[in-house]
Amino acid sequence: MPRQSMKRGRRPELMWGVGLAEPVVRQIEEGVGPGFHIRNFPEDALPLTREFEQEEKPSAAWIPWSVWAAFPEARKQEYRNQDETHRILIQDGETEFEMEKVLAEGFLTVVDLPLTRPKIQDVMFRAKEVKSLYSDIYRMTEEIMLERELLARKTDQLLFLNKLLASATESLDAVTILANAKSSLGLILPVKMLHAAFWNTGSDNAADVEILLNGKMSPPVESAWVEQIMTSASSMGAGAVNGLQISYTDPARRPEYSLAPDQGKLVIMPLVAGHQTFGCLALLCEPGYRLGRDQVETLRSAVNHVGLALRNALAFKEVKLRADRDGLTRLYNRRSFDERLIYEIKRRARYHHDLSLLMVDLDHFKSVNDTYGHKAGDLVLRKVGEILTTVFRTTDLAARYGGEEFVVLLPHTNEEAAWKLAERVRTAVENCAFHFDGQDFTVTASIGVASVAGGSLSPDDDLVLKADKALYQAKNNGRNMVVVSGQKDAAAHNAMQ
Ligand code: GH3
Ligand code: MG
Ligand code: MG
Repeated sequence: MPRQSMKRGRRPELMWGVGLAEPVVRQIEEGVGPGFHIRNFPEDALPLTREFEQEEKPSAAWIPWSVWAAFPEARKQEYRNQDETHRILIQDGETEFEMEKVLAEGFLTVVDLPLTRPKIQDVMFRAKEVKSLYSDIYRMTEEIMLERELLARKTDQLLFLNKLLASATESLDAVTILANAKSSLGLILPVKMLHAAFWNTGSDNAADVEILLNGKMSPPVESAWVEQIMTSASSMGAGAVNGLQISYTDPARRPEYSLAPDQGKLVIMPLVAGHQTFGCLALLCEPGYRLGRDQVETLRSAVNHVGLALRNALAFKEVKLRADRDGLTRLYNRRSFDERLIYEIKRRARYHHDLSLLMVDLDHFKSVNDTYGHKAGDLVLRKVGEILTTVFRTTDLAARYGGEEFVVLLPHTNEEAAWKLAERVRTAVENCAFHFDGQDFTVTASIGVASVAGGSLSPDDDLVLKADKALYQAKNNGRNMVVVSGQKDAAAHNAMQ
């Protein structure tokens, strides 16, 4: 900066005198030597705001107490705001000032009259010293404030981790864990959306992928997210996609609140357990949001914890699925059915609603096995499982009762409706064309229906027995038919007619 070196090299340093008497000005000039230039403002022409705003600031200002004391507070403040200027008080009255008062008034030091050369040099030296002490304190204060801010941020992050950990381990359900994680993340980040994906890569390197989206969204936004997540999944080694299942963590969320992946700051983090990446989290923050390094660290450990909780939840789901379901058809197993039957019977005893039960048995299934092989038989059982899953509501319970026998429990369903559903199953099975090992074949099913009507006080604990008897009748009457328990004319519902 040439201007400054010029100032230092050639021009004397500027000092102000504020209402000084001429002899005092001369004493100061003498005392400080040739490196300084004093501009004295006479008492009737003291500096105004425009003088304060001049580019060259005085390095010091000499102000007699008599002048200073007459200033209104606002004016005093105007002087105090001049950071670059050392204010030196000239004690021109009788009273001696305590240093404390001098500092409180905004001066660095004080000197009394008459001014002598040693006094002036001493006062200049002291002013400089106090000033540097001040700036040390100032710097330290600033550092302490910064430290405090960092600590406050750390505290926020610890609170966040604590909340996140507590809520993550609270649940064994992935949807709940994600909902909790999103609200905890809100403590440290402006999170708009949180999605997750899990994949299970089989030995054939094909993955079953499950995506949990934050909520329903418009079709273009949803497909943008699915594409984004699938791209990330494949870059994290998920392998080729075998099956894709999409569900929503917050079904009540309104679609118009959803943002596309490019409508904010997108962060995608892998979910790792052991050395295996089993999924990822996709986080969308407010547009233009920048994560600090400490936030990234916190986020990373948060994601690790959430990852573990999700891993547990997925394992739990799998274990539960295995315990509740039949391995071949994925329908509920006999044990689940028995439990649910007891529950439904108890409920009916209280509310007296309709309750029906179907018992389905494949016809001549032994000969399917004998003719086409056991594997063909398994294929048929799996297909029948699919048919049962599609025909019934989620409140109904379709289960594999054993072998080639299935049961369906239908709460709030009367005999007529149950019969219709049974007919749908029967026709669906009958119309299903099987291909196995180059051979084509079909199978049929016989179905027994038993119902207790709403309001009826008749015992319903023999529902299974009744359905079984109806099924036996269907078999006896020629198979591939539905028989309703207690109907004399079984042929009335005989589909063969
Ligand atoms: P019906 O029309 O009287 O019911 O004759 P069916 O041959 O179906 O009756 P049966 O009870 O004699 O035979 C049932 C067969 O179902 C025998 C068994 O080998 C077969 N089976 C039971 N469980 C399975 C299974 O998991 N897979 C296969 N492939 N076959 C099974
Ligand atoms: Mg059979
Ligand atoms: Mg059987």
